[in-house]
Amino acid sequence: MTPLHIATPLLEHRTLSAALNKRVLLKMENTQPSGSFKLRGIGLMCQRAVAQGASHLVCPSGGNAGFATAVAGVALGVRTTILVPQTTPLTVRRQIADLGATVIVHGEVWDSTNLEARRLADQAGTIYIPPFDHPDIWEGHATLVDEALRQSRALGLEIDVVVCSVGGGGLMSGILQGLHQHGLTRLPLIAVETEGAASLRAAIDAGELVTLPAITSIASTLGAKRVAAEAFGWTQRHDVRSVLVSDAQAIDAARRFANDQRVLVEPACGAALAVAYDNLPQLAGFQCPLIVVCGGIGVDLKMLAQ
Ligand SMILES: *Cc1c(COP(=O)(O)O)cnc(C)c1O
Repeated sequence: MTPLHIATPLLEHRTLSAALNKRVLLKMENTQPSGSFKLRGIGLMCQRAVAQGASHLVCPSGGNAGFATAVAGVALGVRTTILVPQTTPLTVRRQIADLGATVIVHGEVWDSTNLEARRLADQAGTIYIPPFDHPDIWEGHATLVDEALRQSRALGLEIDVVVCSVGGGGLMSGILQGLHQHGLTRLPLIAVETEGAASLRAAIDAGELVTLPAITSIASTLGAKRVAAEAFGWTQRHDVRSVLVSDAQAIDAARRFANDQRVLVEPACGAALAVAYDNLPQLAGFQCPLIVVCGGIGVDLKMLAQ
């Protein structure tokens, strides 16, 4: 099966490299046809489901997971229904609908949207696509590591730490799976959350999975109240370093990135970039960090200016 995602560029951030005296590498997942890395995992899951006879994809997400599912559905030629909560902006609903997916607005919060998606998916030929919690999704996300290692080695560089943002932990789980497949079981991973969306940190502190009472960060893409058990499990068997940044740091990094690289990314992605832009102490001692530029469609010039 030809994957639905593309191989993305690996770029060096020259100004950050010079400022930090490191080689700062960027995996440009914002260039995926879905605007974020999510097409890697969700694309693989949808592809497998359709190969096994599914003719209808259902995904509860007013964000990048819904968008990636819609892109996958079009590519695979199957009916796609994206359920979004009432809080999802009209522009996002239209973007998803313009791809050819059916958009259903249901519920005030994601939890109730999700229940409706589960109900809809309870029909023959229909598959429920979760935003982050499925082995196919981790397997698809792991392809990012295959590429990044090949690309960095072609430049004669050895990545010594990976930096990524964490919502429900699907991206992180995929990256760690990829690292382990390549024998890099000791390569540290810096897992970045914003302060109002820190469900991974809460689980690490508690020593068990925790459900946050609420999400208070502007980085709504990182707003999973509870991480996947897989992601928490990884923190117990890999060197995962949890870092929290403020919304202001995430937004500022996204703004600086737009200016430096002429690329717009969500605050969810700015969170990971902030580790380098603010030269956080967790980066000390590393020579060649790989920052996953996870991207995101929920941003425009006006939003970044506000
Ligand atoms: C989904 C997403 C994340 C978080 O990924 P998880 O797998 O939920 O941890 C971060 N940034 C962007 C742009 C995303 O779309």
